[in-house]
Amino acid sequence: MAGVSYPYPYEAPVSQTLFERASLVTPGGVNSPVRAFRAVGGTPRFMVSGTGPYLTDADGREYVDLVCSWGPMILGHSHPEVIEAVHAAVARGTSFGTPGEGEVALGEEIVARIAPVEQVRLVSSGTEATMSAIRLARGFTGRAKIVKFAGCYHGHVDALLAAAGSGLATFALPDTPGVTGAQAADTIVLPYNDLEAVRAAFAAHPGEIACVITEAAPGNMGVVTPAEGFNQGLADLCRANGALYVSDEVMTGFRTSRAGWYGVDGVRPDLMTFGKVMGGGFPAAAFGGRADVMGHLAPAGPVYQAGTLSGNPIATAAGLAQLRLLDDAAYAKVDAVSREIQGLVSAALAKEGVAHRVQTASNMFSVFFTEDRVRNYDDAKKQESFRFNGFFHSMLAQGVYLPPSAFESWFVSTAHDEQAVERIAAALPTAARAAAEATA
Ligand code: PLP
Repeated sequence: MAGVSYPYPYEAPVSQTLFERASLVTPGGVNSPVRAFRAVGGTPRFMVSGTGPYLTDADGREYVDLVCSWGPMILGHSHPEVIEAVHAAVARGTSFGTPGEGEVALGEEIVARIAPVEQVRLVSSGTEATMSAIRLARGFTGRAKIVKFAGCYHGHVDALLAAAGSGLATFALPDTPGVTGAQAADTIVLPYNDLEAVRAAFAAHPGEIACVITEAAPGNMGVVTPAEGFNQGLADLCRANGALYVSDEVMTGFRTSRAGWYGVDGVRPDLMTFGKVMGGGFPAAAFGGRADVMGHLAPAGPVYQAGTLSGNPIATAAGLAQLRLLDDAAYAKVDAVSREIQGLVSAALAKEGVAHRVQTASNMFSVFFTEDRVRNYDDAKKQESFRFNGFFHSMLAQGVYLPPSAFESWFVSTAHDEQAVERIAAALPTAARAAAEATA
């Protein structure tokens, strides 16, 4: 299928009809705002199947997928061994509401990979993981306040939605109605990559801050790499002030290396959160860390946390199968194809004279339409995101599916082979021209 091009402008009549039906029964026609095309315009594509690096939409068009379900599909779609594990698990039943061996095995795999995780609790979404981690941090320390960074997204937890990235960055929402003053009052929002601001917050609120939560390497305002020493500085400041350092690895965990971003920078958090890759495309997530902190969770301790479908046997089977396939060779492959695509995108944009910057966190990357280094959310917002819209639609028309927002990471997989890369390469010159010609 290399070299296939689609007419531009283009139509998607079946997706359009599905979107109209969806909009009648679902707000905005989508079950998660980032799936909408509101920032870039047009009709979201309704996907019907995925194989390897490709997705096929309801109109029968095939796309090279650079979203990978927002991170989880690191082995590509429908990996035979993951599918086989799922079939085997389904045949045994779908949910028991009791402990099961699969969740033990997944817990053991996580603990074996990530040294700071001495104990882990499985949940069903990244949102649940971060919500539970900050409750535990508050219960453990007996303190109320939490520190988060502008542009970091930790799921749609009330206390963590202030100045958040992801969909809130895409749609320029500073906060959200429905979160009360009381729920947000204990959240201190600071600029990312600014240790002085964190030091000042601890000085202004002595003995009041339960934890600092940060994306281990942010991907929800586009990819913004932590400055040298930033994460270590956070860990040190937390320790010095009796607060917990919570590293949110929902996006980076098991993606940026075998041990996620911890495997890259080696900074030891007190608590960590995971999701996406560890579920193999199913709803499985987790939080874990120091055994003395985790021991405060019910039923071992007083901090309550629970879930009907936590450790679901299908999700844990899929997650375990995926993690077991993710050896060093797999990460080397994802890293290499990521670098190749980054280079192609950058060369195409440079050829058209488009100011841009590719920022990376291992194999996660995003393209900012600015020449200036992006160190925080304010920097990210200064980019010429209108250029992304033209670029996005041109890529889509040529069969490459990008995140429909200038504020998101792009994701690749072990399945992105030379054929898929050729398809991307073939689409880039036209897309770069569209970016160059875009007007605000
Ligand atoms: N934390 C981070 C860093 C994320 O990127 C996300 C989702 O994108 C979440 C938490 C929330 O995870 P979920 O969408 O599974 O609730």
